[in-house]
Amino acid sequence: MKKYAAPIALFAAFEAVAIALWLAKDNLFYLFNFTYIGASVALGVVLFIRGSDRARRVTQLLVGLYMLVFLGLIGRENMQIEGFWYYLFSGSFTAATIHYAVAKIFGPLLFGRGWCGYACWTAMALDFLPYKVPKGPRKQIGRIRYLTFAASLVFVAALFLAQVANIERIMFWAFVIGNIAYYAIGIALAYALKDNRAFCKYVCPVTVFLKPMSYFSLLRITCDHDKCIGCGACRRACPMEVDMLDDARNRTNGTECILCMECVKACPKHAL
Ligand code: SF4
Ligand code: SF4
Ligand code: SF4
Repeated sequence: MKKYAAPIALFAAFEAVAIALWLAKDNLFYLFNFTYIGASVALGVVLFIRGSDRARRVTQLLVGLYMLVFLGLIGRENMQIEGFWYYLFSGSFTAATIHYAVAKIFGPLLFGRGWCGYACWTAMALDFLPYKVPKGPRKQIGRIRYLTFAASLVFVAALFLAQVANIERIMFWAFVIGNIAYYAIGIALAYALKDNRAFCKYVCPVTVFLKPMSYFSLLRITCDHDKCIGCGACRRACPMEVDMLDDARNRTNGTECILCMECVKACPKHAL
């Protein structure tokens, strides 16, 4: 049982959030929602411990499809960043605001960019593309993320300032059209730059929250330098070009780590 301590602890953490929100909001949905997500994450970790190559993909599909199809398309909740602004401006601590608080703002202090590695429905599709590791040098165009971040904020603020009717309906269609745009841009960029995660590195507005918070992450990849033989297999396997051999928080691309464990799997000396 000892080797399953991590998934048990993860499930317990999600369950604590599930029960706290269920009781605080008097709404059974939160119990179901966070229990499901916690179970999906824990299952992925169990599969990883058991040596499955598909562990991360299983969790990514279970959580990503649930959020995209069940919550987004069937439940008509905009779980994108514009949905977060919408619920925030409405003064409503539900749906996207809770999702952002847990997965993208405060959660990263504990589990870094685990969201990006195991749950995001955009990356869920991008990770099927052929460029799992970038084929060229990183581009200096990361500031695009601030433009997309600002555009999402201005879009929702303008709807509120103009007192547009039916904002809820607009938010649903913004979710549908926004996702189509994310997939189209993400796939085009992946092929153009030969890098599945190009959208994540340069365009995604959510990284404006994720990067600074994950800098302080409790959970992170570190290197046992006594075991390391400097073969470089870990760096060659990393989709995000992180310098995981450097244990400093300000290591190169440190806030890009999505905890995918590809470096850990690639290391012949179990040094990571
Ligand atoms: S960077 Fe954005 S698109 Fe990429 S995995 Fe994270 S949240 Fe998803
Ligand atoms: S390969 Fe390692 S350092 Fe790179 S993103 Fe995955 S877990 Fe992080
Ligand atoms: S793969 Fe392992 S042994 Fe090779 S450089 Fe990376 S940490 Fe060191």
